[in-house]
Amino acid sequence: MAATQRIVIENGAIATVDDRDTEYASGYVVIADHRIESLGAGTAPEGLENVVRRIDASGHLVTPGLVNTHHHFYQWITRGLATDHNLFDWLTALYPTWARIDEPMVRAAAQGSLAMMARGGVTTAMDHHYVFPRGAGDLSGAIIGAARDMGVRFTLARGSMDRGASDGGLPPDFAVESLDEALAATEETVRQHHDPSFGSMTQVAVAPCSPFSVSTELMRQGAELARRLGVRLHTHGSETVEEEKFCHELFGMGPTDYFESTGWLGEDVWMAHCVHMNDSDVAAFARTGTGVAHCPSSNARLAAGIARVPDLLAAGVPVGLGVDGTASNESGELHTELRNALLVNRLGAHREKALTARQALRLGTYGGARVLGRADQTGSLEAGKLADLVLWRMDTLAHASIADPVTALVLGAAAPVTASFVGGRQIVGDGRLLTVDEDAIARATRDEARRLARIAAHG
Ligand SMILES: [Zn+2]
Repeated sequence: MAATQRIVIENGAIATVDDRDTEYASGYVVIADHRIESLGAGTAPEGLENVVRRIDASGHLVTPGLVNTHHHFYQWITRGLATDHNLFDWLTALYPTWARIDEPMVRAAAQGSLAMMARGGVTTAMDHHYVFPRGAGDLSGAIIGAARDMGVRFTLARGSMDRGASDGGLPPDFAVESLDEALAATEETVRQHHDPSFGSMTQVAVAPCSPFSVSTELMRQGAELARRLGVRLHTHGSETVEEEKFCHELFGMGPTDYFESTGWLGEDVWMAHCVHMNDSDVAAFARTGTGVAHCPSSNARLAAGIARVPDLLAAGVPVGLGVDGTASNESGELHTELRNALLVNRLGAHREKALTARQALRLGTYGGARVLGRADQTGSLEAGKLADLVLWRMDTLAHASIADPVTALVLGAAAPVTASFVGGRQIVGDGRLLTVDEDAIARATRDEARRLARIAAHG
């Protein structure tokens, strides 16, 4: 076996996001192979062996890598459409275009989505993919391959829709799979790609899309499948008033009660949005340990409302942040969500007490790792955890005069990423991706977006 190789990072401010929110004004982190070996105030211990690299982090803030908990990569090639719509009108406008995607489009869109996030400090990504047109190729394989090439830790939430318009659902019939197809393909994806080990780069979750695009049977059997295979469950929930109305009309109950009745509350479940929840819904999430992916930019873009994040946190509900698909959040950056989580929640009932900058950073790191079921491995800087961490440059025009580095990161402009490590492997250097060709990805996404627009226009 090769000798342990060490990387020493010194002289930077460090926000560990551990359970005591330990910070060092100037400290060190020692990476040994894939993991964090030690960290603390001052300079690294003397006499470390096999140090292959020393990084001077003066003028930087070191944090855990950001964790994204909700996204739809394919939307990277349908950005800037239906910009003044609410969720249901926006979906109805976009489904016909989305139903025409194929494997090269999905690959390019995944590369674009991942590149944008990785450059901005994301070390753990996820994609909720639920559009599988017949004959479109191996979409799950293309998405997972894109994440592997980039070197980002990744969860694919294998989505599905089987409630077409003729069954009272929102998507057109041509955009949905059958119940049996969806379950079989999801099981196959788990068996082929899911790696449950410590430090795994690829995990798969079972993820029917939403109450208004999925049959009750697919919700029920999807939950059973996930538990039989030992993987996590993900879906959209309680996003809009229209969804709430839909659930009352079709099921005679609100979304949270519907989820509970179909097996969709539990500590192995995380749900995107959770905007329209009453006190008993919040209590049900807390009682069952169900996690939430808070997506403030997308919720604002689609006029969905403000999730009750301070109440969810006070109740002990695990909460992470999500970019959501870039057709409803064109920036595609998770940094924006740290800031918007803080700002949007201060517009709610708790006003200036809603969230602190440190809580926002926690949502985007440890909170995300928790909802993805990986808080024992990533999401905070602690000895023994994976070396997933970011060096943010804080000594340039944008941030140098901001009093506190965590405030600068959360409320300031998007901070330049000097270096980003995933499992001890550097994937970003001086703001550029080291693992893939960013310019080639930009060209491919532009070409595939144009090809999709052409195909969609011709029907
Ligand atoms: Zn979504």
